[in-house]
Amino acid sequence: MRKDEEGNECPETLGEYRDLCHAIAPDSKAVEFLDQKIEEDSEGRNAIVIASDLNMRTLLMPMLAEPVLTPHEYKEGETSKAICPECKKLVPTTLRTRDHTLNEMTKAVLVSVCDECNTTVGIPHSSAKAFH
Ligand SMILES: [Zn+2]
Repeated sequence: MRKDEEGNECPETLGEYRDLCHAIAPDSKAVEFLDQKIEEDSEGRNAIVIASDLNMRTLLMPMLAEPVLTPHEYKEGETSKAICPECKKLVPTTLRTRDHTLNEMTKAVLVSVCDECNTTVGIPHSSAKAFH
């Protein structure tokens, strides 16, 4: 371990900072940020942090308070409400797996379907990603 400007022991490598952040706030953005840095660095967890501990703390502190937003996981059969372009009103919808064509590709993905006329009224972001 290296020492900070006050002579206290402080983390030296990306891995040590990551473990420290993980011990304080496992689901925080700081852990996600450091995991990404570790992945990008050829030295991985053993990469020596050049920035001073003070700089690292200034950088990581706000991230420790910030939870990682886990995207909503869409499931078949999930119901919601949407404006249907055919019914021209707010209708109940259900998520169903359907062949959907986008960018000249057809894939079976979860789409939001109007319960009244069976029209596809929306496509969740996670399904749209399948076309990129
Ligand atoms: Zn409809």
